[in-house]
Amino acid sequence: MAQWLDAKVAGRTDWNDHLFSLQFECADFPSFKAGQFTKIGVERDGKILSRPYSLVNGPESQYLEIIAVPVAEGLLSPKLHQLQVGDELKIMAPATGFLILDEVPASQDLWLLATGTGVGPFLSILQTEQAWQKYQHIVLVYGARFNQDLAYLPLITRWQAQYPERFHFVPVVSRESTDGQLQGRIPPLLESQRIQQQINLSLTAQNSQVMLCGNPDMINDSMNILTAMGLSKHLRRSPGQISMERYW
Ligand SMILES: Cc1cc2nc3c(=O)[nH]c(=O)nc-3n(C[C@H](O)[C@H](O)[C@H](O)COP(=O)(O)OP(=O)(O)OC[C@H]3O[C@@H](n4cnc5c(N)ncnc54)[C@H](O)[C@@H]3O)c2cc1C
Repeated sequence: MAQWLDAKVAGRTDWNDHLFSLQFECADFPSFKAGQFTKIGVERDGKILSRPYSLVNGPESQYLEIIAVPVAEGLLSPKLHQLQVGDELKIMAPATGFLILDEVPASQDLWLLATGTGVGPFLSILQTEQAWQKYQHIVLVYGARFNQDLAYLPLITRWQAQYPERFHFVPVVSRESTDGQLQGRIPPLLESQRIQQQINLSLTAQNSQVMLCGNPDMINDSMNILTAMGLSKHLRRSPGQISMERYW
């Protein structure tokens, strides 16, 4: 049964002035599947104000971790942005959600398409053996406005070193041009095959599973393009190639 657990901020990383990660200590948090989310809450006047957040850490990690932005006019996220080490909060146990590899059919390649904080569940998935055992090639396409909005690059670089032939990292920034890096939005770059050409890998219904997380426009536009390419939404009762999670 779902229940609130007490947690404490154990660390924070400020990737820039608005993009941040929080690490939490939460004794007895039950095991979870990489890609799942939980609710994070702060107690005010006897009430818990909470929102769902994906876990970035791998299931084996000692700490729970989330990545977030303070949404303008948002009720909770600006409060999370102010939390400091030692501050107390509530975490809902257990974690839940279906953006997990158990729900994604086997295939040759796995494509992870993320914008902004939507990269979180994929970072958790990439920390599992299951991901590297189940797929030959894993592609992480990570979209952001500026290079400074790309978080966790040291972790991502480690996978590039560990799996040089199997892991393909494609950063895409929309408002800045950098030599050798794709500029624009993920959906048109998929449609024009620029992403596939950059890593010399095809994306077809026969060889790929695709997971989407992040900005709703990216999800909707990518869905349309992938559908036109012959892929379909994956449902248990009707297997396909596209799995997704919407944050809003
Ligand atoms: C399954 C699930 C997992 C989620 N995981 C994450 C996560 O890992 N990290 C994260 O930052 N958020 C995540 N979210 C979104 C998060 O739950 C909150 O909606 C967000 O932090 C805003 O909360 P708020 O109380 O500040 O804003 P609210 O007062 O609830 O206002 C919500 C509005 O903020 C906007 N919004 C929500 N999220 C974002 C965002 N990331 N960027 C820009 N605008 C946004 C939308 O317009 C939404 O209608 C997730 C949502 C779901 C459903």
